[in-house]
Amino acid sequence: MSTSVLVINCGSSSIKYALVSDRREDRIYGLAENLGSAEARIKGITFGGVPLELEIPFADHEKALETVLNRLSQYRPQAIGHRVVHGGTLTKAERLTPEIIERIRQATPLAPLHNPAHLIGIDATMRLFPDLPQVAVFDTAFHQTMPAHAYRYAVPKFLYTEHNVRRYGFHGTSHAYVSDRGSELAGNFRQGGWLTAHLGNGSSTCAIWNGQSIDTSMGLTPLEGVVMGTRSGDVDPSIHSFLANNLGWDLKQIDKMLNSESGLLGLSELSNDMRTLIEASEQGNQDATLAIEVFCYRLAKSLAALSCGLPRVDGLIFTGGIGENSAYIREKTLSYLPHFGFQLGKDKNNDLKRGTEGRIDTGTGPELWVIPTDEEGRIAQETRSVVDPIDAAPSNNTENAAENDALA
Ligand code: ADP
Repeated sequence: MSTSVLVINCGSSSIKYALVSDRREDRIYGLAENLGSAEARIKGITFGGVPLELEIPFADHEKALETVLNRLSQYRPQAIGHRVVHGGTLTKAERLTPEIIERIRQATPLAPLHNPAHLIGIDATMRLFPDLPQVAVFDTAFHQTMPAHAYRYAVPKFLYTEHNVRRYGFHGTSHAYVSDRGSELAGNFRQGGWLTAHLGNGSSTCAIWNGQSIDTSMGLTPLEGVVMGTRSGDVDPSIHSFLANNLGWDLKQIDKMLNSESGLLGLSELSNDMRTLIEASEQGNQDATLAIEVFCYRLAKSLAALSCGLPRVDGLIFTGGIGENSAYIREKTLSYLPHFGFQLGKDKNNDLKRGTEGRIDTGTGPELWVIPTDEEGRIAQETRSVVDPIDAAPSNNTENAAENDALA
């Protein structure tokens, strides 16, 4: 009999859900949005690919979760897996207990937009389904194998020891999934050195050695690193004092600008959507062209920098909406990495069908892969490994620890 896990990702006014079976069956998934307002509704796909649209006026998180679970109860989920953005220094998925919920609460200052919403969802599902095992799967956990020289900032030590100021990294479930899958397809599961580029609205890169994260581009928050849809990525931290002293901006205004008005949107003054920018660039829009160039150049720079954490580079994997779908961005990024010996198969790159995984190098040099990410699948797998450790695949984070210590 197949068993399934209900994966829940709670935002401040929305809930994404997916019912993930342990067999390769169609997924039931959807989004409850506009929660708390008259426009609250659920949109999704039910079994057999049938669309679902349900008005749930003024429903809050609890009401929406109750509605979703009632509709799914016939499939009898074995457990609930919650995506939690920040797990502080927790190193793996954890069964939800009062102590773990408190640890998630303590990590709130590090993810003020995300963790409070996750806690609302956790609170509601614990009340609604007290008998169902529930697990938190953290975006940060995969990166807890980073050595200290990768996760410490060069700021006074007490900020780390007393205030947890360090690099954490995010998108962990995606980097873990695509590097596992890529190395498996390459015939060397969790072996060797891989670079991964998760390119969506939020983007990050990761260096992985023998299945473990060695370094990643995001830091204390998901603002650090490469250029994103509306996030700046790396800037000189003195930009804060420059803007305060010269333009009279306060911290809130600077934070908003860096998180919501920068990146592709800020550079192009047109859109945060890569498709729109590629089209505009083709029609001669210079700002769109520059935004794409900055995106690819900074991305290449990040991948080259992260390669310092790897004894050797066996392959590079592209994923996320942009990484999976844009042959143009993949080719342009690789053009800035000439010294790695990557040999892009241009036809393979251009001909790869949307949403499929495939190898896009010519067969010489390090391997190049496109792997559609599956964060829900990974969260379900990790949830199973906590609830039913004998049946589930081994978790990533403790194997090869000695080897990584040696790297540190
Ligand atoms: P999120 O981080 O919100 O999950 P996605 O992973 O879905 O985002 O990625 C969204 C991005 O993917 C958008 O910038 C979108 O323009 C881009 N994208 C999707 N399809 C294509 C395409 N064919 N070419 C270029 N960019 C694409």
